[in-house]
Amino acid sequence: KKPDIECQLVVLGSGPGGYSAAFRAADLGVDTVLVERYGTLGGVCLNVGCIPSKALLHAAAVIDEAAAMAAHGVAFGAPKIDLDKLRSFKSKVVGQLTGGLATMAKQRKVRTLMGNGMFVSPHEMEVQTADGVKLLRFEHAIIAAGSQSVKLPAFPWDDERVMDSTGALELKDVPKNLLVVGGGIIGLEMATVYSALGSAVTVVEFMDQLIPGADTDLIRPLAKRLGNKLKGVHLKTKVVSAKATKKGIEVGYEGDSIPETTLFDRVLVAVGRSPNGNKIGADKAGVAVTERGFINVDTQMRTNVPHIFAIGDLVGQPMLAHKATHEAHVAAQAVAGQKSHFDARVIPSVAYTDPEIAWVGVTEREAKEKGLKVGVGKFPWAASGRAIGIDRTEGFTKLIFDEETHRIVGAGIVGVHAGDLISELALAIEMGSEAADIALTIHPHPTLGESVGMAAEVYEGTITDLY
Ligand code: FAD
Repeated sequence: KKPDIECQLVVLGSGPGGYSAAFRAADLGVDTVLVERYGTLGGVCLNVGCIPSKALLHAAAVIDEAAAMAAHGVAFGAPKIDLDKLRSFKSKVVGQLTGGLATMAKQRKVRTLMGNGMFVSPHEMEVQTADGVKLLRFEHAIIAAGSQSVKLPAFPWDDERVMDSTGALELKDVPKNLLVVGGGIIGLEMATVYSALGSAVTVVEFMDQLIPGADTDLIRPLAKRLGNKLKGVHLKTKVVSAKATKKGIEVGYEGDSIPETTLFDRVLVAVGRSPNGNKIGADKAGVAVTERGFINVDTQMRTNVPHIFAIGDLVGQPMLAHKATHEAHVAAQAVAGQKSHFDARVIPSVAYTDPEIAWVGVTEREAKEKGLKVGVGKFPWAASGRAIGIDRTEGFTKLIFDEETHRIVGAGIVGVHAGDLISELALAIEMGSEAADIALTIHPHPTLGESVGMAAEVYEGTITDLY
């Protein structure tokens, strides 16, 4: 059959991976088609992930800060929440960014094709568009079809009171009693939002720690604050049954710390995301997909089929937007014939909770497990003028060094704006910085960023009177 569309490159999926790949390829002169099943570009991150969650977390931060100022002589009174306006703020933020992508695609002459795409052969894809099925013939493909939230079968998903993160971001109402199943980053970010808006939030986590990937000491200040704000945080506990009743969602638990409440107005299930690798007809193109739906790639992001690449959430952990973007550039450059490889030493992770938790590189736990000889420099924010000035001294900055070379190999920060502070440490690790490089870098005063230089000084032994 004659193809409806021919191109040098098709990019399947328009999230941070897909749009970045399409734009970079087009900039390098590759004739590119970007296929997206939903109505707007931007994928999970822009439409129902990173961006709307941060807009709502901004509202939560303002509510909490305003309330905290009452103790210091500036009282605003109880917040009046207009959910329609808050929702349109969130939608405006999302719309500005996704609309911007559409313009950027046009400027680059990237053709966008809205519809569900499935490979039908190693060089062909069928796209189910509003105008019928289009056959697309391509020389190269970049698969960037992303992931979706895991829908635990114990929950009655046909009841709209049971939500995944997308449902929670819709902010249909502020439930009196909200259960968050999963104490990972997404669950805790949404718990922060709903709690600030007035919900009594209960969090249940199966593991023995919130945000299990991060070091335990980083979690403590967050756990303490959440303990004061939320109705309950229950570790080593899981929800084993959930039933929709007239009064609410009735749940049953098993584990070490059973919550008192069993009836909730809404339940958010945030227990992880699974890759979309086995929903795209990959086998028709000869692309190998693991049982769980991941696609294995080499350092050029090439799959087992040399002209087909894969990037983003569906090539593995960490499932983060900035990882997808970097992989996208590598793949696009490889398609354009450049000798490009993914060789990032580290990928930072951030929980935009209150306080924020950010970490990069080796954690202390990993160092222990792998038997690495590391030393730690830790600067408590209780000794930071800026943290004292904003009344947020619970944080700390921790740097982890190789004991032999004194090079930085990891870092963790807990505290407000930790997510913004971690970039310097990702750069330091990429640059192979030694403790002295960081300690001797002049940081502006008074900033939270100073804590980075100070932590290196603690490690070097030039600050000794903190503890
Ligand atoms: P996606 O963004 O998932 O995009 C894939 C796209 O492919 C989608 O638009 C999908 O519709 C499309 N698609 C799939 N199959 C087909 C098909 N067959 N045909 C056509 N189109 C298809 N990450 C961060 O780094 N920072 C954050 O703060 C952050 N916050 C998050 C908050 C939430 C609530 C969630 C859910 C995620 C968050 N993430 C965050 C993760 C981030 O969203 C993902 O890592 C990122 O979106 C992955 O990008 P991607 O390009 O791999 O795929």
